[in-house]
Amino acid sequence: MRHLIIGNGPAGVVAAETLRKRAPEDEIMMLGAEPEPPYSRMALPYLLVGSIGEDGTYLRKDANHFAKLGIAQQRARATAVDTGKREVRLDTGEALPYDRLLIATGVTPNRPPIPGIDLPNVLACWTLDDARKILAVAKPGAEVVQMGAGFIGCIIMEALAARGVRLTIVETGNRMVPRMMTEGAGAMIKTWCERKGIHVRTGTKVASIAPRGDRLAATLEGGDVLDCDVVISATGVRANIGFLDGSGIACEHGVLVDHRMQTNVAGVYAAGDVAQSPEFPSGQRVINAIQPVAVDEARIAAANMSGGSAAMVGNLAMNVLDTVGLVASSFGQWAGVPAEQGGSSVEVRNDGTFRYIRLEFRDDVLIGATTLGVIDHVGAIRGLIQGRVKLGRWKQELIDNPTRLMDAYLACAQRAA
Ligand SMILES: Cc1cc2nc3c(=O)[nH]c(=O)nc-3n(C[C@H](O)[C@H](O)[C@H](O)COP(=O)(O)OP(=O)(O)OC[C@H]3O[C@@H](n4cnc5c(N)ncnc54)[C@H](O)[C@@H]3O)c2cc1C
Repeated sequence: MRHLIIGNGPAGVVAAETLRKRAPEDEIMMLGAEPEPPYSRMALPYLLVGSIGEDGTYLRKDANHFAKLGIAQQRARATAVDTGKREVRLDTGEALPYDRLLIATGVTPNRPPIPGIDLPNVLACWTLDDARKILAVAKPGAEVVQMGAGFIGCIIMEALAARGVRLTIVETGNRMVPRMMTEGAGAMIKTWCERKGIHVRTGTKVASIAPRGDRLAATLEGGDVLDCDVVISATGVRANIGFLDGSGIACEHGVLVDHRMQTNVAGVYAAGDVAQSPEFPSGQRVINAIQPVAVDEARIAAANMSGGSAAMVGNLAMNVLDTVGLVASSFGQWAGVPAEQGGSSVEVRNDGTFRYIRLEFRDDVLIGATTLGVIDHVGAIRGLIQGRVKLGRWKQELIDNPTRLMDAYLACAQRAA
């Protein structure tokens, strides 16, 4: 059996290792398009801060790790998949045959279509090469404008702030982290960042960037001009699926897969950021681009590729973010559901201490939550949502005091168990 894995990020690597454990005799080939050993993008902020070197980002530290496991690697970009002939064409001109194929190509940052986006020193922060460029120009004291304050944007912001640059964040939404945080929490994060000396401009966007001497001038929609040395673009991502055009593999925002990570084509699977997989509990297929989901999906895909039978319960949206010292989290259907579908919520906030909890219910089941400054309830929130635990009278107890999550979990989940 020949297993071909396109992509050597966390999903590709974990799939290759899982396959090797389950199928000692099978051939495994892992392709990677970048000129680096397999590495973790989520380690790049630590590289920017200086707490690790480049080798600290490598997913496996032993240079011979994959060779020892009999996992072949090739540096090449897949350019097309012929599902009839069961082969993948590469930018080297070669075609590689497969019996089982895993697509684990991840996502690529969007480049907003604005004048000046291709200027030097307008950089993304997605690859090891991007990080090298940022290290060269975002020196302490440099002025940096960052476009985008989403989940990844806030992680990059934290690293840049720690480098001692002077930072302005420009976010189109009316608050920070708008696709992960409620209005209340997003607004509090903005206030927190401003108190830490970061300028935050919400509800606007960079309309153009132009050279000004050896620096840059970023012009906002309303006409304000921000002089800076570097512009960082963190305005969302798109799945790397272009090479699948004409393959017959069904895609929407990403590669569409079922609970087994199987695509619509027999023998072809997808995992990681590129996969659009069923979410918990709605079953709708979404991209949940975080590393724990990527590796869970990779294990499931590899189990099925090697003849087993494994299925996800569905990926639960679960994001924990440390924004310059303020820990924020959101879970499940944090934006809630309408009252006519049984939706209700409770929100408590303390702007002085930056503590915030909002809980979302459908009937008497917790379906989502957003928190700031509260980290001791993470396990209870996850357990209540994933277990679809019926709260009974504990729903009212939580409405009266949402911080009693652990009591509710112990009383309801354990009773059910
Ligand atoms: C700065 C930053 C910070 C982050 N922080 C966190 C965090 O704190 N927590 C968290 O959970 N997640 C974080 N993430 C997200 C996390 O890195 C991703 O969820 C994870 O990398 C997904 O793994 P993957 O294997 O699916 O994709 P990737 O890691 O993107 O790997 C895909 C690989 O496929 C290769 N490839 C693409 N196209 C082709 C092709 N056609 N042919 C061959 N190879 C190809 C790519 O070069 C790449 O090596 C962060 C991301 C960034 C950029």
